[in-house]
Amino acid sequence: MTNLILLGPPGAGKGTQAKRLETKYGLVQLSTGDMLRAAVAAGTETGKQAKEIMERGDLVPDNIIIAMIAERIDQPDVSSGFILDGFPRTTAQAQALDGLLKFKGRKLDHVIELKVDDEALVERVSGRFSCAKCGASYHDSFNRPKKENVCDVCGATEFKRRADDNAETVRQRLSAYHAQTAPLLPYYEAQGILRSLDGMAEIDSITDSMEKVLG
Ligand code: AMP
Repeated sequence: MTNLILLGPPGAGKGTQAKRLETKYGLVQLSTGDMLRAAVAAGTETGKQAKEIMERGDLVPDNIIIAMIAERIDQPDVSSGFILDGFPRTTAQAQALDGLLKFKGRKLDHVIELKVDDEALVERVSGRFSCAKCGASYHDSFNRPKKENVCDVCGATEFKRRADDNAETVRQRLSAYHAQTAPLLPYYEAQGILRSLDGMAEIDSITDSMEKVLG
């Protein structure tokens, strides 16, 4: 069983890499952003509380996020290991996660940081889209489907773009990352489980580096 966190700013490639590792290692990707978008789409209480905050590019309050993850991590499919994508994003979330895992007799094995400079991120995020069926990630300039309008992974022909993937909101999300999430790097460094990878490298080469970390 491997429990892994992918840490990095929006557009660093966390979701793309998480999907690849999921298949290869039989782990489950837990994306708090995906969970929140599903809650917004379903119009749940959590979704109603999160919608405007997400549109602004700010962070949703810790108590909402921690409750959501605590419930998800208890599901049977997560028992063989998880890849956290977009969580934790604050020190309070990281401490809550440590507490949850300790209670369950589990631990974090690796925290992998993807480093990318801010200007590249704005361009990456503004051009990205994903398969509406399987969630595979694509980009207008860097990573188009091999066959136009057909998902490489599942063959679906519908794609979607996120409401918060515009240049203005991305800048706010980046500043939230630097102010609230970057302090997690020394937190995990101190636990001896942090590895930093160059998120500007080719997608395949980043996957290779991750596989070396996972062993
Ligand atoms: P993401 O898909 O990870 O880029 O998340 C999209 C948006 O959802 C973020 O900009 C936040 O508004 C919210 N969000 C996702 N995960 C978290 C989290 N762990 N803590 C606070 N807000 C989050």
